[in-house]
Amino acid sequence: MNKPRSLYIHIPFCEKICDYCDFTKLQYFRKFAIPYLDTLEKELKSYEIEALKTIYVGGGTPTALEDDLFEKLLKIVYAYTKGVKEYTIEANPESLSLNKIKMLKKYGVTRISLGVQTTNDKILSAINRDHSFSQVKEAINNLKENGLDNINVDLILGLPHSSAKILKEDIKNILDLGVKHISCYGLTVNPHTVLYNKGFKEPEGDTLRKYYDIVNEILTNNGFVHYEVSNWAKPGYESKHNLAYWRNHHYYGCGLGASGYIDKVRYKNTINLDKYLEGNFVNEKENVYKKDKLVYQIMLNLRTNEGIDIKYLKDKEEAVNALIGEGLLVRKENRIISTYEGMMILDQIILKLL
Ligand code: SF4
Repeated sequence: MNKPRSLYIHIPFCEKICDYCDFTKLQYFRKFAIPYLDTLEKELKSYEIEALKTIYVGGGTPTALEDDLFEKLLKIVYAYTKGVKEYTIEANPESLSLNKIKMLKKYGVTRISLGVQTTNDKILSAINRDHSFSQVKEAINNLKENGLDNINVDLILGLPHSSAKILKEDIKNILDLGVKHISCYGLTVNPHTVLYNKGFKEPEGDTLRKYYDIVNEILTNNGFVHYEVSNWAKPGYESKHNLAYWRNHHYYGCGLGASGYIDKVRYKNTINLDKYLEGNFVNEKENVYKKDKLVYQIMLNLRTNEGIDIKYLKDKEEAVNALIGEGLLVRKENRIISTYEGMMILDQIILKLL
């Protein structure tokens, strides 16, 4: 078996629920967080995890945990950090206190992914985010002063009341803070979210494309590399953990609703807290046979600027050549790589290849 070298851990708690949120999340209550962490520890021990290269603790909002529980989480994860090259934790600006930052440093966290979404305070409050831009600045300055400068900022494109002008301000404001990595995702408005019930719509395809073009132009002019459809990084600061997903590597997924890929099986954990606390972790399993592996390989590899080894496309030469002719793919030595244009319509490329 090819043992996973990456571990994802999901902390589902949030202090306040954002209007657009469709992730696996729960309102934070201490009485749920305590048994949750105990159960998470058991789940981690149920796998024979060793020699990890990357760890990613996401959510929800890991920093929503109170200080003592946050430290408990870090202590649980610490058991797996030996030899790890990248250890990321997601944080929200309002709950990333100086005390928590010092804990991150103490327990070996190397990278922070900060949920910012926009730097426009009016929009932040309109979508029920719990922070302002001044808290973002404070959090980033505190991180840097404490030696944590490998910082990602998440932004959402096409939020209600946003515009190209506001997006340009967002990018400028974030660049001024000297972060190394920026992720931008188009707004999705899923049923059951407050945004959906308020009648808000996702940005139209043309508008979203315009927003991506704005982001890409400003960031690449400022030394960032567009290394994945929705991700830009200063050279050397690409997310090693996420690259493991896009390279179609195996990974453990622990926690409520987490997904994993171990020994040719992709699985998804339950999103039911009671079931999780009872120890019924895995809810769905998918055997990844050779043919499915190829589908994942193509879908995931073409997302990044590393592209895919041509050996996986040997019976698709005609389609590949046509896509190269259209300027959507390029060939570099033994790899086929999406161009920027290609990344913008990746779903269509994948359809043609499959
Ligand atoms: S902080 Fe993140 S996970 Fe929590 S409600 Fe907001 S978007 Fe959802």
